Amino acid sequence: MVKEDTTRVKDYLTKTKLTTLDYIINPYVGCPNKCLYCYAAYMSSFSKHKEEWGEFLDVKHTRKRINTFKIKDKKVMISTVTDPYNAYEEKYGITRMIMEQLVKSEAYLSVVTKNKLVLRDIDLFKKMKHIEIAISISFLDEKVKKKLEPYSSSIEERLETLKILKQNGIKSVVFISPIIPQITDFKNIIEKTKDYADEYWFDKLNLRSSFKTKMFKFINEEYPIYKSLYNDIYNMKNPQYFDELNIEIEKYCRENNIVYKNFYAGT
Ligand code: SF4
Repeated sequence: MVKEDTTRVKDYLTKTKLTTLDYIINPYVGCPNKCLYCYAAYMSSFSKHKEEWGEFLDVKHTRKRINTFKIKDKKVMISTVTDPYNAYEEKYGITRMIMEQLVKSEAYLSVVTKNKLVLRDIDLFKKMKHIEIAISISFLDEKVKKKLEPYSSSIEERLETLKILKQNGIKSVVFISPIIPQITDFKNIIEKTKDYADEYWFDKLNLRSSFKTKMFKFINEEYPIYKSLYNDIYNMKNPQYFDELNIEIEKYCRENNIVYKNFYAGT
């Protein structure tokens, strides 16, 4: 059960300090996808809500139109702490309204989603100058998906979404994020998607606060064999696992001519 509300904002555009981006747009506060590992859960403390992260959704409204002149040639991501095509977007259409304002923009737009609803806006994407759609996939197993990402499109639907984007000539990205130690098999995901993806992005699972407890519980119950590895990575802060994986990703992508960005490398 998600508590729906509205909130007034000054502007949909937010300047970001993230080094790879200039602006971000989050059409909603909260994310009903409710991924178990959600890094954005810390946002709860900035909101008025008593509900847990994933159980509230504020629909953002503003009278101010997006200043497309300001974002000319800038990198803009939609979104970073919500899914712009979450199940409620069908009802509210805020992302669609934002996309309509961005149609003539000359910004470099990146959309990140786990939901097939993104296909609804293909007509707008086709008119945009620079647009890429990133579909997040961390595993191919639907049973794992149901446990970790219960309210987003199935893996099969995401694969189909990639195919349709490709057929429509829209640049598509598979965002292998978060990489969940020993559960994410990046080579398998690439093998399964390489005919439909123009690029791959990688980022690792970061665990802090309440979602760290949830993920540890999940690992203890479902994959007790990896308990000590998770302890090593997330309590002892041993960087070895991700350092080695980084080398493996680089080698694999180089040997297979895969265009990629690894957002966690060097962090
Ligand atoms: S889609 Fe992203 S923001 Fe939404 S719950 Fe999942 S991890 Fe969090």
